[in-house]
Order: sequence, then structure tokens, then C-alpha cells
Amino acid sequence: MHFEQDFEQLTTERPTVSSQDPEQVLHEVFGYEAFRPLQGDIIREVVSGNDALVLMPTGGGKSLCYQVPALVRPGTAIVISPLIALMQDQVAALRELGVKAAFLNSTMDFEQARATEYALMTGELDLLYCAPERLIQPRTIELLHNASISLFAIDEAHCVSQWGHDFRSDYLQLSMLAGEFPGIPRIALTATADERTRKEIAERLTLTEARHFVSGFDRPNIQYRIAPKTNANKQLLDFIKSEHEGECGIVYCLSRNKVDATAKMLADKGYTALPYHAGLPADDRARHQERFLREDGVIIVATIAFGMGIDKPDVRFVAHLDLPKSLEAYYQETGRAGRDGKPSTAWMVYGLQDVIKLRQMLEASQGNDHFKRVERQKLDAMLGLCEVTRCRRQVLLRYFGDVLDEPCGNCDTCLNPPETWDGTVAVQKALSCVFRTGQRFGVTYLIDVLRGSENERILQSGHHEVSTFGIGTELSANEWKSVFRQLVANGYLRADPEGYGALQLTEQCRPLLKGEHQVELRKDPEVKKTASRSSGTRGGSAVRDQITDDHGWEVLRACRKELAEKKGVPPYVIFHDTTLFDMLERKPRSLEELAEVSGVGAAKLEKYGAIFLEAIAGLDRK
Ligand code: ADP
Ligand code: ZN
Repeated sequence: MHFEQDFEQLTTERPTVSSQDPEQVLHEVFGYEAFRPLQGDIIREVVSGNDALVLMPTGGGKSLCYQVPALVRPGTAIVISPLIALMQDQVAALRELGVKAAFLNSTMDFEQARATEYALMTGELDLLYCAPERLIQPRTIELLHNASISLFAIDEAHCVSQWGHDFRSDYLQLSMLAGEFPGIPRIALTATADERTRKEIAERLTLTEARHFVSGFDRPNIQYRIAPKTNANKQLLDFIKSEHEGECGIVYCLSRNKVDATAKMLADKGYTALPYHAGLPADDRARHQERFLREDGVIIVATIAFGMGIDKPDVRFVAHLDLPKSLEAYYQETGRAGRDGKPSTAWMVYGLQDVIKLRQMLEASQGNDHFKRVERQKLDAMLGLCEVTRCRRQVLLRYFGDVLDEPCGNCDTCLNPPETWDGTVAVQKALSCVFRTGQRFGVTYLIDVLRGSENERILQSGHHEVSTFGIGTELSANEWKSVFRQLVANGYLRADPEGYGALQLTEQCRPLLKGEHQVELRKDPEVKKTASRSSGTRGGSAVRDQITDDHGWEVLRACRKELAEKKGVPPYVIFHDTTLFDMLERKPRSLEELAEVSGVGAAKLEKYGAIFLEAIAGLDRK
């Protein structure tokens, strides 16, 4: 990725921001109507010189919280961001808006770095993005002391947390900013932080005086769906074909092999699907990420190595073929869908084997008892979400400390409420079968015993003579699988860490064995019945369904694509989908009318206004 940092062009190109008022900056530069909840408060806080700690979900609009103050306050805002690719895209997007932005990171050669430093010293920059390892160098600190700094923004602030999965030791040293630059406001931002992590961020970054701004975690435009795994590949294909054909998405798998196989499977079916995992050469990874960002309709199949800092607004679905380890991971990964606020799907299939595998990995992992206990609780919460029979969003938000009063109407359990059944007797049979066969066998074998299959293995071990042989013919093999899955998910059975999936009883199952508790089990939906998007739900219908003018949509997209290619930036840096929708709806006929469209600020109006007006006029003539 290459963005030229051509300051001569920058300074002449930029329309001057005529006002010092945040609202006006929002309208003129960004082309947006109004601040979102909290944005206004946060911006006022920082503009008046105070520190702030901001917790907002992905897509909530964190960037504006420091970009607007950066334009309102005199001096250059320093933005600390851990991901170089993301930094480059953000700078490119800001420049498109006519904002004087640049970055300092390890991809630049000496000359480029010098030019940027010079621009900083002479006060020509509104924002300077900087990698943390670069910022903490004494040389950079000295440079900053000689420049006029408006604020520090610390993005992805949870990277200071040693408990988190994104820990970066460079981030710890950022606490020195408080001592080195007293009086310059600092704003830390993150999308992933529970109470504990938030405290940790405040302490480690010495943000003791900072006001905390915590926005709700709900992502109403994301539809959450979790289905039992029957034939994962087929389920995935059906899902994409019926709901997201031609749209871009992310498919997550646990292992590299599975990533490769799944990408190939999708490619064989005609999709543009690209693998991404740590085992691929760096070049391939970069190229695949690049194509995902720049082309339309690319599906990336990835391990969790992919994702942090993926700022693409129009990811329409995130599919999990394997269970994430925790709700934090699930929420972060699914959160990459629908940053633009349009309807999107978080889709997952999971089965007994996933539960067994994760439980085994956990038990076999390094780490002390405390660590394992925490991890176990996290996995339990994840499994709880999978097996829940009420609104999934309520459960999910509850976990993050949010309360949603009403069921959401936009998750599979709301759309197709699952039935439950009295599983007391079935559970007793299943547990007793595990016990009678010596806690040495896996689920397939156990089901064969229950259903009275006289296969060779059973005959050899004499299990056709145990009392549980053939007592479970009332349920199909699949129904028994569902029973076992729920028993493992709920901790009544565990997989022997060394025993190839052999199931064992836990202490917890005692009352169940005795039949002292009634057990309600979830009835897995019929295989064919997938939750459909019904209109009138909170999320509304799929994005493509909203477009009534397919031809017009294609024309505007082609126009955008051509500009993006010419400039060497991703299409959404020119205009977001939401902006194109709005154009198509309003069909503006003049620059004034076009300026009303959400996402069209002064700079883009000047650069692209005429081109898009012409394209729109062409539609009417047709
Ligand atoms: P985050 O960093 O919190 O994940 P972003 O800052 O990338 O989110 O914002 C998400 C999307 O919302 C972007 O496309 C951004 O342009 C848009 N956005 C942010 N604030 C507003 C607003 N006040 N009005 C309209 N769109 C907004
Ligand atoms: Zn719901």
C-alpha cells in the first residue's frame, strides 16, 4: 500500500475550515447531519482541554471523537494507532475530506519521514498518526516538544491490558505522555473493555482525571444466529447463497487447514474466497487483505489472526464455522459486520465436537488454576449463548453489563422461538449409559448403545448386555447428539482430556442421575428451517433488497470504482455505500442538493460532485 505524502499538493488542495465550531466541522468537512449519541459530549470535553476515556462499540463512530477536536483545536493532533494498514487507510480517507493528515511509521523511508516531520514542525498538519513504537522513541518525543500539539488520541486503548488478547508492551509506555505533556488533553478509545479492563486502561495510561464515556454495546443492525452443525459446508453455502450472494463477508475457522479447505470449497463454487492465516507468506496475506478491502464481493476465510483493525464498513456477514473461545471474542469478531449500520448477519454453526475440542484445548493449555478457571467461565458463557432459548441479544448484552428490556426481534431465537422439551428421562438414560459403559467412550458409541445397535464393537465389549442397551429407541441419533451436546455444554459431562473424546460424568450431574431435577432441553430446529429475515424486524431487510434501482446502483458503484482505482484507495474512501444509497434516493440535480446527501462534505463535493451529478443525470435520461 502506498500513499504519497505530497505536502505541496496538500496545502493547496485543502479548502479551509471556516469555523471553530464542532457542528460546523461535522457538516462541512464530514458532510454529516448530526452527532451520534455521546459524540457531541465527548467532543466538547476534549475541545475544552479535558481528558476522556471512550468506550463505544465497533462502528459507533469513535474516530470523529478525536478528528473533530483535532480540527477545532489549534495545533496538530497526535493519533496513536497500533495497525499500520489501518493508519494508512484512515489518513487516505481524511485526505479525501480535505483534512491535512499524515502518518509516521516504519514503512516510510528517511526522506518521507523527514518531510512529515517538517510538516509537523511548521504547523501544517491537523492530524499525525503514529505507531506506538515510533512515538515512544526519545527522538519523536523531542520533536513533539518542539511542535504545537492539540491533543493525543490513543486508539485501541485496550492494548495496554495484559489480560486482553491484544496486549502490546509499547502501549504501557504511553503513560509517560501525562508527565511529558501536561495540559494537553488525551483521549483513549476502545471497543472492547469490561469494567476491569476499563480501570486498567485508566490506571496504566494515567488517565485518572478523565471522564468516562460508555456507550451502549448494542449493534441493532446485526442479526445474531446460531444453529446446530449438521453439514457445515452445505449450511454455509446455503446461507451465503440465499442471503448474501455477491456481498462481502468474513468466515472464521479455528485451524489453518480448515481455512484453506473452506476457502477452496467456496472458490470451487464460484465465490471469490481468499484464505488468511499466520501460516501464509506475508505477501499473500497482505494481498488478500488488500483485495478484501478494495474489491467488491470478496469473502475472506480466516483464523482469528485476521480482523483487528479491519475498518471496512460494508462487511455484510461474519460466519463462524468454529466456536470462539469467549463471548468477548465472539462479539469482537461478529462486530466486524455492518459498521455502516446496514443490516448484516452474524451466523454460526456449532456442534458437539466443537464443545469437546474447546474444552480439551482449555484443559491441556498452559496456565495456572486461576487462569483456567477464568477461561472455563468464559467458555461456559459462550456455550450458554449457544444453548439459550430466549433472546440472544439480551443474553449477550447482559454479559457486557447492558440491559435490553425487550427481546430484540432480530436474532434467531426471537424470529423462530426454539421449542423446549422435558428431557429429564432422556438425560437420565444418557448419563447412565455413560456410567455403565465405563466412561471410556465417545458419543457415537454411546448413541449406538442407547439405540440398541448390535455392531461388532459393542458385541466385542459386551455392552449389548448392559442395562442401558437399547433403551433409547424413541429418539433418533441426531436427537441424541443434541442431548449429549447440551449435557457437555452445560457441564454435566466432560470430555476426557486424553481420551479422544470419551465422555465422563462430572460432580454436577448427580441430581440429574437421580432424576431429582426436571431438565428442559432445547429442541434443535429442523435442518431445513433457517431463520429468514422477516421485514418489520429492527434490522429491516437485507441491504440489496432496499435497492429498487439496480441499474442506478451499478452505475454509481462503477463511477466510484473508477475513481478509487485512479486514486489507489479502497472504494469506501471515496464514498460509503450509505452515501451512494442516499444519492440514489434523492437524485440530486445540483451541487447544493448533492451537499445535502449524508457523507458529502465540502472537499468531496468539489472533487467528485460534478462527476456524480453527471452520472445521476444520465440515469434520468435513460
Ligand atoms: P469505530 O471507530 O467506532 O468503529 P468509525 O469511527 O469507523 O467507528 O465510524 C463508523 C462509521 O460511522 C463510519 O462510516 C463513520 O463515517 C460513520 N459515522 C460516524 N459518526 C457519524 C455521524 N455523526 N453521522 C453519520 N455517520 C457517522
Ligand atoms: Zn432477540
